[in-house]
Amino acid sequence: MPMLLDGKALSREIRNDLKERVEKLAARGIRPRIEVIVAAQDPASLAYVRMKRKWAEEAGMISGTWDVTPSTTQEQLIEKIRDLTQDASVHGVLIQHPLPSHLDENEALLTLGAEKDVDGITPQSLGRLVADLPGFRCATPLGIMKLLDHYGIECAGKNALVIGRSVILGKPAALMLLQKNATVTVAHSRSVDLPGLCAQADILVAAVGRPEMIRGEWLKPGAVVVDAGYNKVEGRTTDVGDCHFESCAPVASAITPVPGGVGPMTVASLLDNTVRAAELS
Ligand code: NAP
Repeated sequence: MPMLLDGKALSREIRNDLKERVEKLAARGIRPRIEVIVAAQDPASLAYVRMKRKWAEEAGMISGTWDVTPSTTQEQLIEKIRDLTQDASVHGVLIQHPLPSHLDENEALLTLGAEKDVDGITPQSLGRLVADLPGFRCATPLGIMKLLDHYGIECAGKNALVIGRSVILGKPAALMLLQKNATVTVAHSRSVDLPGLCAQADILVAAVGRPEMIRGEWLKPGAVVVDAGYNKVEGRTTDVGDCHFESCAPVASAITPVPGGVGPMTVASLLDNTVRAAELS
């Protein structure tokens, strides 16, 4: 059986470490605070936000939300982001994707100051990633890199395949793997022969959003499989990854479970970034 890349266990270690850092900050009179801007009508977003708040509060942090409704105007959204950017008691701001479609998310992200972008998804933060400059890194790919690092998975010289090119996941994951000296290929919906690309990959990161699309028979034997997918499937009680775990696990040398792999690492990385923002304040 492959090594299980246990994001649940590692995220617990990270959260324990965060508690200690939060206590040290308390001695300086600082309490890390994250504010989340979220579409109040979107149950999936609210579920994620609840989990983030629970873990933040367990670590001793303050977690607030600002609900966006169908009647929220673009001007109100931008004013709120400006206020949060200027409020010295706020260390991190998360704009939970997706916002309602009548709002311009890109303008919202451009308004948010990079020093509070603890999700690392503003153009300023992404530019810093491209330029190898310090800054907050996107929470999900950062969580993936922490998992690989924790389990001693060497990236240098390896063929890494990232399936998916979203701004929040696929593209920054590819850049972070490149930074670790992997030879990176990025696949997407227009790529041809995905099984052929998978067959070359020593490290495969699935960020597609298609339940169980990647099959074990596509994999290179011994591949490291990181499944960032989180898909609701009717009739299944838990979310399902982009990789078909049952067929992938016997071929892989290491694999993330879903749930319990990348998901908890995303939240831990977001909170880690927030505590770092407070430490830098
Ligand atoms: P997204 O914005 O919808 O992007 C999906 C990507 O997959 C796109 O680049 C798309 O290609 C590509 N794609 C779609 N169908 C494909 C196919 N048949 N073959 C190859 N590539 C294909 O999704 P996302 O936000 O990146 O999220 C991806 C998955 O990760 C989802 O399941 C999401 O729930 C999950 N997720 C998990 C976490 C976490 O914390 N674990 C965080 C964020 C997202 P095109 O660009 O050509 O359309």
